[in-house]
Amino acid sequence: MQAQAFAKLNLTLDILGKREDGYHDLQMVMQSIALADTLTITPGEGRMDTSLSYLPSDDRNLAQLAAAAFRAATGLEVRVDITIDKRIPVCAGLAGGSSDAAAVLRALNECTNAGLTPEQLAKIGEQVGSDVPYCVMGGTALAEGRGERLTPLPPLPACHVVVCKPPFPISTPQLFARVDMKKIVRRPDTAGMIAALEAADLAGAARRMYNVFEDVLEPRRRVQIDEIKARLIDCGALGACMTGSGPTVFGLFDGEAAARLAAQRLGEQYREVFLTQTV
Ligand code: ATP
Repeated sequence: MQAQAFAKLNLTLDILGKREDGYHDLQMVMQSIALADTLTITPGEGRMDTSLSYLPSDDRNLAQLAAAAFRAATGLEVRVDITIDKRIPVCAGLAGGSSDAAAVLRALNECTNAGLTPEQLAKIGEQVGSDVPYCVMGGTALAEGRGERLTPLPPLPACHVVVCKPPFPISTPQLFARVDMKKIVRRPDTAGMIAALEAADLAGAARRMYNVFEDVLEPRRRVQIDEIKARLIDCGALGACMTGSGPTVFGLFDGEAAARLAAQRLGEQYREVFLTQTV
């Protein structure tokens, strides 16, 4: 069986507070895009292989963890070999690993005829990672809590998306550690974003995109992220934003020509640039 695992974007990311369990309470509007990994799943012994040699190819891979969680939850002794052709950049804020895990859950549900609902699969996915429940559902959704509380939203109107991953890593734990709730002054207008989605207003949604992590970045990283955003806007993006804990930045376009030009211009400076669409 072949399965597609779509990348996700944060149209908004807000941090509402720190919880007693050490996690942060998040509020995020998420969107799937066509940039995807391809998984090939065959009956086997539990072997794992990916097109990127530095990714774990054992039971530390989120795809294998998902298969194990599926077996534990259903009691079905299904053993599969999984090969992943990775196209989603790694450690990029695009939920690539979580999406691979979600694709495995959906595929195992289908090929075993287990008949689990998407909500049940999302619940199993929670044990694998906070973004897995959203990746099981996909589309446009509000994710709250650690990301596991999901409310489907009207879809973002179809548009072209330029995704640019600059070549520096951002450590998610370090970024969370830098969050000082008292110092967050700028927040996304999540209610306004939802209203724009309900009105199918692409420009309104694009204008309201914002990620509070952008204010928490080290100054030199902030400059680099802002520069990519500015270039996307210069090329005609309706809005631009960093996704997740970065460093990937994306822009939304209502015309393909402008999106293509933006991808070409950024491609002259950055290796990982993708022209894609919403799904
Ligand atoms: P998120 O947006 O959910 O924070 P991310 O895009 O920042 O995720 P990923 O690329 O999903 O990060 O995962 C990064 C980490 O997960 C890496 O340390 C990587 O080794 C590990 N990992 C395990 N399985 C996978 C997989 N199938 N694909 C990518 N990374 C994986």
